[in-house]
Amino acid sequence: MKNIFFRKRLLTVVVMFIVALAFSFQVDGWAWVRSEVKIPDIPGYLTLKCDFHMHSVFSDGRVWPTLRCDEAWREGLDVFSITEHIENRYHSYDDDIKIDLNRSHQVTLPGAEALGLLLIKGGEITREMPPGHFNAIFLKDVNALKKEEFKDSVKEAVSQGAFVFWNHPGWRGQQKDGVSRWYDIHEYLYKKKHLHGVEVANGPEYYPRVHRWALEKKLTLVGNSDAHDPLSMSHDFHKGEHRTMTLVFAKERTEAAVKEALFARRTAVYQGDTLIGEHRYLEAIFNNSVEILNPEVTIKGRRSAYIQVRNKSDVTYELHLSGGKMEHITVPYKITLYGDKTVLLRVRGTDRKMSGKKEISLSYVVKNLLVAPKKSLPITFDIKVHFSPSK
Ligand SMILES: [Zn+2]
Ligand SMILES: [Zn+2]
Repeated sequence: MKNIFFRKRLLTVVVMFIVALAFSFQVDGWAWVRSEVKIPDIPGYLTLKCDFHMHSVFSDGRVWPTLRCDEAWREGLDVFSITEHIENRYHSYDDDIKIDLNRSHQVTLPGAEALGLLLIKGGEITREMPPGHFNAIFLKDVNALKKEEFKDSVKEAVSQGAFVFWNHPGWRGQQKDGVSRWYDIHEYLYKKKHLHGVEVANGPEYYPRVHRWALEKKLTLVGNSDAHDPLSMSHDFHKGEHRTMTLVFAKERTEAAVKEALFARRTAVYQGDTLIGEHRYLEAIFNNSVEILNPEVTIKGRRSAYIQVRNKSDVTYELHLSGGKMEHITVPYKITLYGDKTVLLRVRGTDRKMSGKKEISLSYVVKNLLVAPKKSLPITFDIKVHFSPSK
């Protein structure tokens, strides 16, 4: 009797425990977590994180388009565009789904709106080189770009108000030696103002020649993932990896503002730990990322003082000393300003008898901020040093 009573009580406790456990799962659910891309805004503009080039099963991608929205949100993007190949030969699943080139946008839009992301309608005009592949974004009807003649497809895109950019000009799939070439057709598009930007980076590839053209011809710098597979297949997010993206410096977080910024060439490209862009934008990003916590220090004789440099961004900045030999002090030749960390910059006195106050500019170049091919952004740290002689 006692034994049965005990068992019943035990059973009640176990059942209650299971119910409580089930309830707790129901309450908490699964966490959907977004990782922000920590690259600061710059004076007057928001820094929007954008990817204007990716695919789904509506061309030759391997994912349903709504996954692109979930990925964009999780990876901290603000703006994205699903750009299916227009041409039939890239429609890998046309036996399984009806190909309508506006569909990826239509089925993804409600999810993007629910998560507060901007989804821009686009498509990829895909031809042999030359001319190669071109994305057109801010389209109204992607199906209307299906034309026999390449020039007519681009003309249609432009008539819809599109921003047109040349994709992966140095891709080895179309240029065996990996060299990007500017053909007559590109000159034709450029002269007609039907070409507005170029991908200087596509996934892991960077094209220095294209970077040079973009600066000379005043084309907008763009960098995108061109994802066909789920992004988690090619990126280890736990190690801090991220997709190649375009940073757009926009007046506000709207589609119209993104478009205005793209035509006004207010962009930079974020690939790996490298930022590619005009001097003024990269300088503004660096200045808003990095702060000297104690710009005034005291050095006694040949001893050291430590400047604390805080980097609030995700980008790890690699600094190399530039300019000649410094007077009265020595500083490290190389400094790594790790993303989201504070590092110490050791300043050493060189003169035992030195005394008085001095304002000193430390000149460095940030190796991984590219203002032109092989040309890095110069920066200075201004510090004040109180020297006191040692015996
Ligand atoms: Zn392509
Ligand atoms: Zn593509």
